[in-house]
Amino acid sequence: MEEKVLIVRYGEIAMRGNNRKLFVTRLVNAIRKNLDDMGDYYVVREQGRLIVEDRGGEMDFDKVIPRVVCILGITGVCPALKTTEQDIENIKKVCEQHINEIGIDDYKTFKVETKRSDKRYPLGSREVSAAVGEYILEKFPQLTVDVHEPDLTVNVELRNDAYIYSKLIKGFGGLPVGSSGKGIAMLSGGIDSPVAAFMMAKRGVEVEGVYFNSPPYTSERAKQKVVDLAERLSVFTGGFKLYVVPFTDLQLYLLDNVPHDKLTIFLKRAMTRVACTLGERDEALAVITGDSVGQVASQTMQGLHAISAAATMPILRPLAGFDKQEIVDIARKIGTFDISIRPYEDCCTIFVAKHPETKPKTSIIEKIESKLTALDKYLEEAIENTEVIEL
Ligand code: ATP
Ligand code: MG
Repeated sequence: MEEKVLIVRYGEIAMRGNNRKLFVTRLVNAIRKNLDDMGDYYVVREQGRLIVEDRGGEMDFDKVIPRVVCILGITGVCPALKTTEQDIENIKKVCEQHINEIGIDDYKTFKVETKRSDKRYPLGSREVSAAVGEYILEKFPQLTVDVHEPDLTVNVELRNDAYIYSKLIKGFGGLPVGSSGKGIAMLSGGIDSPVAAFMMAKRGVEVEGVYFNSPPYTSERAKQKVVDLAERLSVFTGGFKLYVVPFTDLQLYLLDNVPHDKLTIFLKRAMTRVACTLGERDEALAVITGDSVGQVASQTMQGLHAISAAATMPILRPLAGFDKQEIVDIARKIGTFDISIRPYEDCCTIFVAKHPETKPKTSIIEKIESKLTALDKYLEEAIENTEVIEL
């Protein structure tokens, strides 16, 4: 009996060492989570790869592949036919069925490549390839063999079961999520920060998010945008935890008590503090932001210095050296761009200085801040009233 399955490949290098089992489990869980609402799927661990099976009927690759190929740590997926009957006559038939399913209009030449990990199999790999190749030539006279640069490579893998496939759809690669510890990403709803979160997730960091919400100065739709971005990010990682911090009171307090041209720096320092506190609770080891040097007034080297000085853990700024266009290209590729540019009504600009300070001195900022006697109280209140959204 044969059935459609999806072969999932992951990076071997990332999987070395004692944590290998844990990483594979994380991948399995991420696949399960992403397919959860679509049907009855089962993920089988095979030597060095995973096999997704559809227990509810015939697998719809167009639905399943996009949900799986995006998971970080996966190098690629192959839509395949699996058969439990491995005798050569059946293998030939299944190869024919596979070629009929993918269609040969685009192909003139082919080869068959066989891998035999079941050493008890009576035929050698070359013999299998030759036998199957001959059969394909017979059934599809429009194809010819080219072993060097074929348009189509039909792969036959003989394991506990046999797998026939010819296409590899590339994934993002990267390290499996969670293999590099945890980080907390400051997500603003703009273009940059979701890209920054993605970049670190791609390096194996388990990323959670924090959004600073200032109703009524920021709208419900602005918050929804961040929730949607977090949801989009969750498909790469198989889940995403988002903190929404009420920031209005703190923001108004700073508005009243610091020089207006430096307000943004104080706001960012306060955000950084809250992010560190929330992160520390979850055993995060770094804050992640979408800062890109020179992009706006607060992202000058001086601005970043003044903001970083408030942090109690390292701040990772994966976009620091990126141009806007480079960031936009990644945002489009990972599907966050269209969410980020969604318009929403920003009700008020009272927090935006006309001529913001571009070269703040950290020592001066700290001196002013030391006189803000109520700051700690506002920070505590913001943290206390933080909402948690699990995606
Ligand atoms: P983005 O495109 O990510 O919004 P930006 O270019 O608009 O970035 P800023 O608004 O200066 O830049 O913010 C710099 C970084 O600070 C953001 O990338 C984000 O990490 C963080 N940040 C800014 N505002 C918020 C917010 N309201 N909530 C959470 N993080 C924020
Ligand atoms: Mg922004």
